[in-house]
Amino acid sequence: MPLCPQCHSADIEWRAAVAGGSVYTYTVVHHPTHPAFRDQVPYVVAVVELDEGPRIVTNVKHCRVEDVHGGMRVSIFFEEVTDSVSLPQAEPA
Ligand SMILES: [Zn+2]
Repeated sequence: MPLCPQCHSADIEWRAAVAGGSVYTYTVVHHPTHPAFRDQVPYVVAVVELDEGPRIVTNVKHCRVEDVHGGMRVSIFFEEVTDSVSLPQAEPA
């Protein structure tokens, strides 16, 4: 984020995290929002609360969508989308 979500300060910095957290909330996408996603449905879009506190929007992969639930423990890994873009993704811990 470009600003602190609590006080809107721009005085922010990068910090290392342990890459663990839990599913705060989620939804299962059944209808592709773009033809490029046609082969990926159903998939999970989740808000994951990291153990350090921040929440990130990500996908939960490497499990059945039916197995995802609130409070589920997850690990964060980075998936290379292109040669220059990597996205944080979650999987069951
Ligand atoms: Zn702040």
